[in-house]
Amino acid sequence: MSIVVDNIVKYYGKQKALNHVSFSVDEGRIVGFLGPNGAGKSTMMKIITGFISKTSGQVSVNGLDIDEQSIEVRKQIGYLPENNPLNLEMYVREYLYFVAGFYKLGKTAKERIDTVIEQTGLTIEQNKRIGALSKGYRQRLGLAQALLHNPSVLILDEPTSGLDPNQIIEIRNLIRAVGRDKTVMLSTHIMQEVEAVCDEVIIINRGNIVANTSIDKINEVVQQETVTVLVELEEAVSESVFLELPNVLNVRSVNKKKFLLETPAEIDIRSHIFNFAVERKLTVLSMQKQELNLEDIFQKLTASVED
Ligand code: ADP
Ligand code: MG
Repeated sequence: MSIVVDNIVKYYGKQKALNHVSFSVDEGRIVGFLGPNGAGKSTMMKIITGFISKTSGQVSVNGLDIDEQSIEVRKQIGYLPENNPLNLEMYVREYLYFVAGFYKLGKTAKERIDTVIEQTGLTIEQNKRIGALSKGYRQRLGLAQALLHNPSVLILDEPTSGLDPNQIIEIRNLIRAVGRDKTVMLSTHIMQEVEAVCDEVIIINRGNIVANTSIDKINEVVQQETVTVLVELEEAVSESVFLELPNVLNVRSVNKKKFLLETPAEIDIRSHIFNFAVERKLTVLSMQKQELNLEDIFQKLTASVED
């Protein structure tokens, strides 16, 4: 086991942020730590990385107790904090030398810095001031910083938050690539992110673990029989128009130009909707499959746990 969290309780003053949390992460796995804002994800990660203290319970990383062997534990963990604060006045390489000093890399610093710059795709930006980097590149630098001392465990707190869709895909690919020979725990409040990157998922809600399982199992639990597609037209029509479309089980109008169409999950009806509209000289402004939100997933999971 790479990470073992045993019965952790954390109070901030009178507020309980973690309520007897236990889980473990196997070596070499990429685990998603999923939960809504305020669930306790960052708190748990800060405890594992030694940034804040716990109220009670125990944590070990690679068999080392985080209290008794805290210095050794820090050497084994790379940590990307939430909203990674960077000094914008510093230059990319200067910052990495600064981090190398913190980890006392000495003569190996240059070689490690060159390695992580290449690994994280920072080569063309390596001589820039951090303030001149895009958000995506700043996040690459955050990953480079976390990888610098070649830790076996990576703790990444919402690594894609605030990025645009292309940057999100790039950072996810990077995490998968660097995660091949490491244990990775990444937090997110997006279910789709877990599906895209992780082998397993641990779900936390209000300081309680509500699920700890493989992605396949989660998919089984949250498997839907029907999918809803939101269609927006330029023209106002009556909702009954859509009932002429094959495979539409149900129609609800949001307003005269926006409709929710329920369809069997195994059929992607979007191209049919498009052709159907064209035939009737209607203009489709947008179509969106409605994703399950976290509330739906929690509900399904807690129901299945009680079974
Ligand atoms: P998440 O990362 O899942 O959004 P957090 O771990 O940041 O959740 O927060 C869990 C709970 O603890 C929240 O209710 C939050 O308001 C509270 N909290 C977090 N940090 C502090 C702090 N430094 N002082 C007081 N309360 C805090
Ligand atoms: Mg957080």
